Amino acid sequence: MGTRRRLRCTTSDDLDAATTPTPGDVAQSLMFSPDDGRIWLDDQRMMLLHAGAFGALRRELAETLGAEAARALFGRVGYSSGVRDAELVRKRWPDADLANTFVAGPRLHALEGIVKVTPVRFNFDDNGSFYGEFVWHDSIEAEEHIAVHGIGTEPCCSMQVGYASGYASAFLGRLIAFREVECRAKGDDCCRCVGRPAGEWADKDDIRCFGVEHEPRRQAVESVSNADLDNSKKGGREAAATRPMVGLSASFLAARAMLERVASTKATVLFVGESGVGKELFADALHKQSGRAGGPFVAVNCAAIPDTLVEAELFGVERGAYTGATASRPGRFERASGGTLFLDEIASLSLIAQGKFLRVLQEGTVERVGGTRSIAVDVRVVAATNVDLREEVKAGRFREDLFFRLNVCPIVLPPLRERRSDIPLLMEHFLAHYSAMHGRAVTRFSRPAVEALLNYDYPGNIRELQNLVERGVIFAPESGVVDAVHMFRGEVAAGSSFSIGRNGALEGGASPHQAIKSESSKTKPVREIVDAGLSLNALERDLYAEALARTKGNVSAAARLLGLTRAQLDYRLRRGSETTKPGRATR
Ligand SMILES: [Zn+2]
Repeated sequence: MGTRRRLRCTTSDDLDAATTPTPGDVAQSLMFSPDDGRIWLDDQRMMLLHAGAFGALRRELAETLGAEAARALFGRVGYSSGVRDAELVRKRWPDADLANTFVAGPRLHALEGIVKVTPVRFNFDDNGSFYGEFVWHDSIEAEEHIAVHGIGTEPCCSMQVGYASGYASAFLGRLIAFREVECRAKGDDCCRCVGRPAGEWADKDDIRCFGVEHEPRRQAVESVSNADLDNSKKGGREAAATRPMVGLSASFLAARAMLERVASTKATVLFVGESGVGKELFADALHKQSGRAGGPFVAVNCAAIPDTLVEAELFGVERGAYTGATASRPGRFERASGGTLFLDEIASLSLIAQGKFLRVLQEGTVERVGGTRSIAVDVRVVAATNVDLREEVKAGRFREDLFFRLNVCPIVLPPLRERRSDIPLLMEHFLAHYSAMHGRAVTRFSRPAVEALLNYDYPGNIRELQNLVERGVIFAPESGVVDAVHMFRGEVAAGSSFSIGRNGALEGGASPHQAIKSESSKTKPVREIVDAGLSLNALERDLYAEALARTKGNVSAAARLLGLTRAQLDYRLRRGSETTKPGRATR
């Protein structure tokens, strides 16, 4: 990235107060989303951890692993944070002057509550030279260390050293190693760190402790999606290429771990999940990780085949079985022999087809429609459903014996709203994918776009996120930035968000879509409403009534229509009915 910039040599003297991101600018990256229990620093999920709990963690790790290993571990943790913050800064201020954006890192470190940083001096140039010296005041690590161990002989701020190293390395694109030369934990007045290119330090111990290769985060992501990338390279289908199994969230990794456990067995697998969560993708991955990977993978959407044809499709047909059966042909079972047969929307099979299907599972043979001989098939069946099969059984629409046969290894695939921390990864993936596919040089999302995507409800799951990003890439200006208005057309982002104000307090509760809507509705209807002398309360009541009428009284759907959560709309409706009672104040 050095070559892209016009700077030759950059020093702390070049700092220009007018263009340096202020603590306030940096603080705007922070967003609290208490409705869904998340804190975002730009597109990274964060958490608040009690300093005392962090102190206890440090002590326990030092006792369990030994002081050296614990120090190295915190160095790596800090390094990984520093790399993420450097990515954030590069994304937030892509065109700003290098020296001025560099100090955003120390400011983020302060915002995150770790340490107050004062640059003493730093300079770097395009050839990769670097020298940096910073003073740390009131370091959280020193404070917790001294509380537990008192003053000793060694510096203790290894997580901060890791952070500085990760930040500078990712910022400059070469390995920069920091060291703490003074530390409050060894009796100095404050902590002081010095950073140089890794090769310029005499011994390499501190560098090894980061376990550093470049871009550790990217590697982690790739290791998760490698299998899928390989799949798509092998000439896999479109689905595998555009919707890879990308994710690091707990619920996603749990589903993936189950898939890996059952893949090598012969078990029948049932995927359960809403539309758009990627059931076929999982089935495909299961096939490719199984011993049948060399055989065919045949996918059938049972809901897409007319009732009258479903048996012929699945089991095959003999010539003359019925008018129009002019030739014998094998069904999907026979074609999947030696491989995997994936039956999506299994609940839509007729009861007759279910009976025949069960017999194939039990006997391992199929009989073609109009045929008399049994044909042996060696097929692993993988099924999927987006409805509750137990309910279907209760209602008499699904055979109980078939249900038990299929439900040996159910794997529940989480909806996107339950794996929200994967949204940034998926956004990045689809942005790169569709920019390449449509030949667009779109590089990033605007801040309102990021907020809208992170807060949206995704009733259509990953497929919907994918569509939004593709639309954004298409409608964004050439070599420009994807904005919320390029993606959201009729969809309404839900949920509230808070950002941090200049005085450090939370502000807002305004959701991104409200900003989008207010832009577009500042037009004629608003003027007409004002002219008509309607009060805000009356207008609000009418709005809720209209939304409820349109959704036939479905409060959740009405809330979605208005860009509120169900709880928010409930609250407002309740408040509305209370204010009409005599003698009650209207807040
Ligand atoms: Zn220190």
